[in-house]
Amino acid sequence: MEEFRYREGVLACEGVPLNELAQVHGTPLYVYSERSIRERFKALDAAYADVPHLICYAMKANDNLAIVRMLGQLGAGVDVVSGGELFRARRAGIPASRIIFAGVGKTRGEIAQAIEEDILLFNVESPAELVAIGEVASEKRRVARVSVRVNPNVDPQTHPYISTGLKKNKFGVPTEQVVDVYRQALDHPYLEPVGIQMHIGSQLVRVQPIVDAVSRVIELVQELRVVGIPIRYFDIGGGLGIRYRDEQPEGPADLACRVLPLIGSLGVTLLCEPGRFIVGSSGILLTKVLYRKDNGAKRFVVVDAGMNDLIRPSLYDAHHEIWPVQQKCGEEVVDVVGPICESGDFLAHDRVLPPVAAGDLLAVLSAGAYGFAMASNYNARPKPAEVLVAGNAARLVRRRETYEDLIRAEEGL
Ligand SMILES: *Cc1c(COP(=O)(O)O)cnc(C)c1O
Repeated sequence: MEEFRYREGVLACEGVPLNELAQVHGTPLYVYSERSIRERFKALDAAYADVPHLICYAMKANDNLAIVRMLGQLGAGVDVVSGGELFRARRAGIPASRIIFAGVGKTRGEIAQAIEEDILLFNVESPAELVAIGEVASEKRRVARVSVRVNPNVDPQTHPYISTGLKKNKFGVPTEQVVDVYRQALDHPYLEPVGIQMHIGSQLVRVQPIVDAVSRVIELVQELRVVGIPIRYFDIGGGLGIRYRDEQPEGPADLACRVLPLIGSLGVTLLCEPGRFIVGSSGILLTKVLYRKDNGAKRFVVVDAGMNDLIRPSLYDAHHEIWPVQQKCGEEVVDVVGPICESGDFLAHDRVLPPVAAGDLLAVLSAGAYGFAMASNYNARPKPAEVLVAGNAARLVRRRETYEDLIRAEEGL
């Protein structure tokens, strides 16, 4: 959050005061710091510098074209989870050779699209999916490269909705089935097994669960080599946590110094799939106070951003720091709520804030990941605009949606 600081009493993103951005672009508004994104990416890149590696940005965290393009220019690949993301990644100039495709429910249409693009590899989540990829590849007479996503059955110690590496989760292939799935791939004329993958969950503030999972997957790699299946890519997934409240998350350097000694001798290219770590604390949601309201039991601050703009508090009961754009003294306890017709529409419960008034601007911090990307048009609300700041310059990277945008897909039917 270093790129969001008070300068002479006004919160700024890099060199640009947020009140100026609100004036020009309106609210609610997502604001991202280019320097922050760049530095987070470089920290990852540096951590793995000693081994061949490719950082495949998990673009589901934030798929804005300008951000994806910028990361591509820094050398990133991307991890896509749908045909739509593949389309966006290619539009953002990411070479197909740096794109990997994840997800438990790839359709045949999406598989065909990815094979036509000749992406680096598919992360396969089930034997049935491997059959489907094999069939589509045969029809197209093109070889599809595959990795198997292993479910290492490790508890990532995070929120249950973002935990993915336990047996009870829908993700990955259980370790005892993995060798069979590779055999199937090896026997298929249009499938080439090239890698192995794992991703145990998101917002991990300690790296030990990832290290434990890597150890289990290494055992599998050795088993696979014995039966003649060469593994060239070892993908450790994403999941590095960020600071939302007072967490002191371990970072890429902590992970690298534990993982590299384990996989260094395998002679593989390391892949990783960070999303939140790169963009999470690089963005904020700027919102304006509409009303204050006191119902006797509680004080409410009603703002112009709702759960359709930022759903993390409602969906995960996630904590986001909220700072007034104009620095203020004093304290009161309030609920910060949006305009949506749902009691679940809140940004913060029982939050200590300086007293704010109608018209004041608030910044909801750490909103760069799973913020805009999860925004919807619920209550027929146009999605907010997005701005990317670099130094003293701010660039609109997505215009605010209009009412006409809301009905476009229904017109002329
Ligand atoms: C969501 C996801 C990621 C990114 O997770 P972060 O916590 O944002 O780093 C990476 N890989 C897979 C397979 C995912 O589903």
